[in-house]
Amino acid sequence: MARPSSALLLLHSSCSSSTPLHHHQTRRSPHGQSSFPIRTRTNPVRLSIVEAQADVRKEDVIVVGAGIAGLATAVSLHRLGVRSLVLEQAESLRTSGTSLTLFKNGWRVLDEIGVGDDLRSQFLEIEGMLIKSSDGRELRSFKFNDEAEGQEVRAVERRILLEALATQLPPDTICFSSKLAKIERAATGETLLELGDGTRLLAKILIGCDGIRSPVAKWMGFSEPLYVGHCAFRGLAVYPNGQPFEAKVNYVYGRGLRAGYVPVSSTKVYWFICFNSTSPGPKISDPSVLKRQAQELVRSWPSELLDVIKLTPDETIIRTPLVDRWLWPVLSPSASSGGVVLAGDAWHPMTPNLGQGACCALEDAVVLARKLAGALESGPSSVQDALRSYGRERWTRIFPLTIRANIVGSLLQWENPVVCTVRNNVVIPKLVRLGPLLEHTNFNCEPLK
Ligand SMILES: Cc1cc2nc3c(=O)[nH]c(=O)nc-3n(C[C@H](O)[C@H](O)[C@H](O)COP(=O)(O)OP(=O)(O)OC[C@H]3O[C@@H](n4cnc5c(N)ncnc54)[C@H](O)[C@@H]3O)c2cc1C
Repeated sequence: MARPSSALLLLHSSCSSSTPLHHHQTRRSPHGQSSFPIRTRTNPVRLSIVEAQADVRKEDVIVVGAGIAGLATAVSLHRLGVRSLVLEQAESLRTSGTSLTLFKNGWRVLDEIGVGDDLRSQFLEIEGMLIKSSDGRELRSFKFNDEAEGQEVRAVERRILLEALATQLPPDTICFSSKLAKIERAATGETLLELGDGTRLLAKILIGCDGIRSPVAKWMGFSEPLYVGHCAFRGLAVYPNGQPFEAKVNYVYGRGLRAGYVPVSSTKVYWFICFNSTSPGPKISDPSVLKRQAQELVRSWPSELLDVIKLTPDETIIRTPLVDRWLWPVLSPSASSGGVVLAGDAWHPMTPNLGQGACCALEDAVVLARKLAGALESGPSSVQDALRSYGRERWTRIFPLTIRANIVGSLLQWENPVVCTVRNNVVIPKLVRLGPLLEHTNFNCEPLK
């Protein structure tokens, strides 16, 4: 894929050259503690940090996290004429990670923010799916467009998706090596951020797109996401001379274990294995061990799947415990508090069983940007109304979807032999209709302008 070299430079630079985030001096106490105002009984009212300290960089809109949600939000805001600063803890855009399957709702958003066709030209359109049992017996096949008209399914490499989004942003929008370490509400109602290197920033609006372990969500009172009882291996196989598969998603269902593989492009095939495990298990960083474990799980399964795993460079293989968080009405905090708001996994981590996490993060981005841009000129209360309105609108979409994804995962991870026999011989071949299962991919993406 040819890309302008300036764009590549942008993807690996930090803002520090022209907007010296890293050059701010941090005032620290002699004990090395941050000089954030501390609310104690003896010191209940202190000057606003902004009045008190001149070395705080002020920004209207700060986005934390240069993942899919953060970049898509920044691009959407940029399209609407709103500048934002994106803080990313990593040194560059995430280069690890395999692929994501994006459904038509994701594509509507990517079209709206102007990167759909660039990505389409690089990734195959997937026409249908084929379901097999672990002994290789074909249980059912579907064509997406026979089941749900207008469907568009492609597996997209995460790295390329992130690059496509990042190249839409003005230079110096993304600040790498900028890990959010501390958050505090300033007396002005704005949000004060401290980065790992001590840099301090003050944001009128803070958009937390910092993923499943979001520090912003934690600060807002959200609970940790819960482990759902299964983990996933993922990898990206490489076929330098061309991959041999039809443009279909292939699923293989076993007992408490399932796998899938799907062609991504003419030379790459994405695969996953989901397996039950009572605990998330220890973190394993040696990818060759991960590969052996993945192969071991499906060693007697169809050889096609084993070949795909064999042709996977070790370093692309990852293992992820699957988690989600159900946003119960009343019990869960709202998506926004004052000028702070969440999007993507930071707000609604969901299991990947419907392939909707990233699609919903993209949806969040355009809805949030449209509401925010509309309100920004009218002042603080209008901005807060806009953020609340975003939270209400999106909650009705993502709460049921999170539960649905969880239930689908639980059904597919069944271990009981009788239930699996019924599933493979009755439910899948005779009862399942794909159309209703894809209804959640309908999303009316209103124009950004
Ligand atoms: C096994 C699996 C398969 C999946 N398959 C699909 C699929 O097929 N289709 C689909 O739509 N979705 C899928 N998903 C879900 C999808 O990966 C996520 O929903 C999506 O990545 C969420 O994007 P995000 O930007 O919200 O979070 P992330 O991609 O996690 O990005 C968060 C960013 O914030 C940064 N960050 C975190 N903390 C800080 C900090 N303190 N300071 C600064 N930066 C910080 C991180 O470095 C990261 O860059 C899958 C998920 C899993 C686990």
